[in-house]
Amino acid sequence: MQIRDIFNKKKFLFSFEIFPPKATSSINTIYKTLESLSDLRPDFISVTYGAGGGSLQNKTKELTSLVKNKYGIEAVAHLTCIRSTKEEIRKILDDLKAEGIENILALRGDIQIDEEVKGDFKYASDLTKFIKENGNFDIVGTCYPEGHIDSKILEEDVKNLRYKIDAGATHLITQLFYDNNDFYKFLDLTKKYNINVPIEAGIMPLTNKKQIERIATLSGSKIPEKYNKIMNKFEHDTEALMDAGIAYATEQIIDLIANDVDGIHLYTMNNPYVARKTHDSIISIIHSVNRN
Ligand code: FAD
Repeated sequence: MQIRDIFNKKKFLFSFEIFPPKATSSINTIYKTLESLSDLRPDFISVTYGAGGGSLQNKTKELTSLVKNKYGIEAVAHLTCIRSTKEEIRKILDDLKAEGIENILALRGDIQIDEEVKGDFKYASDLTKFIKENGNFDIVGTCYPEGHIDSKILEEDVKNLRYKIDAGATHLITQLFYDNNDFYKFLDLTKKYNINVPIEAGIMPLTNKKQIERIATLSGSKIPEKYNKIMNKFEHDTEALMDAGIAYATEQIIDLIANDVDGIHLYTMNNPYVARKTHDSIISIIHSVNRN
């Protein structure tokens, strides 16, 4: 099923993001994680597309297919374009179609400092347009409540969302954020620029201090003082850190739902414990929203 059809039936979506195992590991290493995550019956699971090339990128297709065809959960394949030719992307689209995949998260991909990129696409909107012209996929796009790191002005970044929506993106998923006020300010801007597709908030429960700091550096996401205190207090006690992180994420999610967010996209980091505990703390709230 296409994600836009799920949005037509439900007020609120709850989805997960996972990543393929390392290039050197077999896909089988993720079966246990998938079994556990699929028990929670999310509206869809999206699978990231590695920048590592070759076998890792094939694993995205394999894993997306497993999610859909073995576990019966709707699946979204991430796809980046910045280093690809049209022919390469066309082949990937054909492969995804052959696996019955109906949804793609169309991405530009990160560009390294001083990297000279060669490919047929410049922005995610170029890929969105190409996918739209080359298959019957539902297309999802990204957005950045604190602004994309390449955009000096948040408002410019929000204005640029128009390109991917006009090209065919039917819903957006945000970069992770830790302060809901950033998201609400961003939503005000999306209204100003008539960005009127559903927007799922990307939430990543804290599982590892170093990882959070690395992501914050790469993406430019702010870490609030309250969050920093939790990380510093529990960084050497994995279980306590995870439980504190789940509590923080749960509080964020409940506030977002109370403010009518269209959906939550949980960055699971392939950690079923975190996904399950977060899910269990909010499931009655999700049911309540979708009943009314
Ligand atoms: P774009 O939407 O193309 O935007 C990039 C920049 O260009 C922004 O500053 C934007 O304002 C500007 N821009 C866009 N269109 C125009 C235009 N027409 N004219 C001028 N400026 C424009 N990376 C991976 O490698 N694999 C993944 O699986 C992956 N999954 C992700 C999932 C989510 C939910 C998110 C939020 C990010 C993910 N990323 C992934 C990271 C992503 O590839 C990077 O953030 C990348 O730097 C930007 O990709 P984009 O598709 O958001 O870019």
